Amino acid sequence: MDGGTDTKEIYENVMNILEDLTSNAHKLQEQVLEEILKSNAGTEYLSRFFPNGQADKQSFKTNVPIITYEDIKPYIDRIANGDTPSILLAYRITQFIQSSGTSGGQPKLIPMTAESFEKRMYEPLLPDLVIKRCFNGSDEGKSLYLYFIKPEMETPSGLVASLYTTFYFKTKSFKTGLAKFCTSPIETILCSDNKQSMFCQLLTGLLQRDEVVRMGSSFASVLPRSIKFLDDYWKELCSNIRTGYLSDWITDAGCRNAMSLILTRPNPEMADLIQQICEDKSWEGIIKKLWPKIKYITSICTGSMSQYIPLLEFYGGGIPLVSPNYSSSEACFGINLKPLSKPFDVSYTFLPNTAYFEFLPVNKDGGGKAQDTRTIDKPVDLVNVKLGQYYEVVVTTLTGLYRYRIGDVLKVTGFYNKSPQFQFVERQNVVLSIDLDKTTEEDLSKAIMKAKIVLEPLGIMLTTYSSYADTSLMPGRYVLFWELKMKGRKDLPKLDAEIMEQCCCIVEESFDFTYKSLRKGGIISGLELRVVKHGTFDQLMDYYVSKGASITQYKPPSCLKSKEAVKILNSGMAGKFFSSKTMF
Ligand code: AMP
Repeated sequence: MDGGTDTKEIYENVMNILEDLTSNAHKLQEQVLEEILKSNAGTEYLSRFFPNGQADKQSFKTNVPIITYEDIKPYIDRIANGDTPSILLAYRITQFIQSSGTSGGQPKLIPMTAESFEKRMYEPLLPDLVIKRCFNGSDEGKSLYLYFIKPEMETPSGLVASLYTTFYFKTKSFKTGLAKFCTSPIETILCSDNKQSMFCQLLTGLLQRDEVVRMGSSFASVLPRSIKFLDDYWKELCSNIRTGYLSDWITDAGCRNAMSLILTRPNPEMADLIQQICEDKSWEGIIKKLWPKIKYITSICTGSMSQYIPLLEFYGGGIPLVSPNYSSSEACFGINLKPLSKPFDVSYTFLPNTAYFEFLPVNKDGGGKAQDTRTIDKPVDLVNVKLGQYYEVVVTTLTGLYRYRIGDVLKVTGFYNKSPQFQFVERQNVVLSIDLDKTTEEDLSKAIMKAKIVLEPLGIMLTTYSSYADTSLMPGRYVLFWELKMKGRKDLPKLDAEIMEQCCCIVEESFDFTYKSLRKGGIISGLELRVVKHGTFDQLMDYYVSKGASITQYKPPSCLKSKEAVKILNSGMAGKFFSSKTMF
């Protein structure tokens, strides 16, 4: 973008588009559904539900079942094995998108067509412009966006399957658009060795430190990991800057070529400056110190990512944290129209032209539990959701998903014109469960947020957490894993057993009636808290990445189901504490 007037005009156009979309939410939703039915009603999957050939909205709502991935998996598998895509959708599939969810250990595959790509290509631009509009001068300068890819796979029928981000980073649209403003050369983003990619992206970010006005990643989990990497490698990064030579272990040809255009000369002055900043005992505000012109950090930090907010605020030293959008492999749902809102208060305004949305009401009882939505009320349309109510989102897309449960629970917080705004609450199916108790992701997060307050006056930060239900002994118990960090120091703080036990008690106290009555009845044992060493959760991420997860779309599991994952966290254990609470 050049010239202030041009930029202003672009912002005005964007706002006009958003006004238009949100004011016509109902009409647009009807049009989207009409188009989907017109194109796809004749497919093998859908035609069964329209026996008399009448595929209108009413018969769609009455006849087409609400499903999960398992229901369409047989169709997806057939297409992946060479059957015609027309069994599910009318368009030619150009490739599959792998969502971060898995089904039977395999990534879920979502069809992608040329038409859907055309529409989705503009998705990242909209929130980007809305955010830039809020920060003066942020249309100038560069973005230190830490992006990574994951190698594609191929189905037996020869269709490529990749993560949406991997696919997007390889498009011309990204290369000629957003990438031009990134400090990371495209070759470093497209390097499939995540370690070489990270090293080079941080190096180019440091070399261009005076131009960087924003930092970000798709999901917040990447940023603390990058800072940890910086912590491990800053001396080597400084040495590369000082000498002008790239470390030999960077062997990727694309990275070496790209870096040779940026790392062109020895720069001891810059190396000294960075070294001085990194040698500081406390890394509070390190981002601001290393990149003094940064105006904001942009990364999804709602839902399970909210656990990283305190750490990012600590490293950011007051730089605003902006959660730009709510989107998935299946569809783009909404964007944050108030980028300046506090990270815990973010709501997303739904975009009514991206898919057809329905909402299954979710009963939240006194304890705040999401119940199984299959048995309760009928879904409501986008414009009919009620303020304050919880819903699970269901989508219908042009790409073969019909009344498909995404699995996310959202709460209506307001409306922008006719479009509802939602806060992300939790993944529907993430629960710790023993006997009749079901503790959701939100229950757990709220309880932990209360307990960690006890540690704050001691200068101890909870940097990340997870949990599992240990039923190897009778009665079973919930086990929490906490990674702790002392502000201003890198080693693990000395922990006072009494205070840690107090944390266990606060967590249990926050759990609901069912948990407490099972504890009282001796069906669940007292909660256990295992504190792990700094870096243990990075090992967990490495494990998931080695199993096929991508760094860019990594969502830390709030609750572990795999024995291997529990083993990894146990291997970093530095202390364990138990609740001494007696339930009356
Ligand atoms: P994926 O398909 O791998 O991109 O993952 C999509 C999932 O990520 C969604 O269904 C949500 O559970 C989660 N997600 C995406 N955007 C957000 C957001 N803004 N806040 C919280 N969770 C999100």
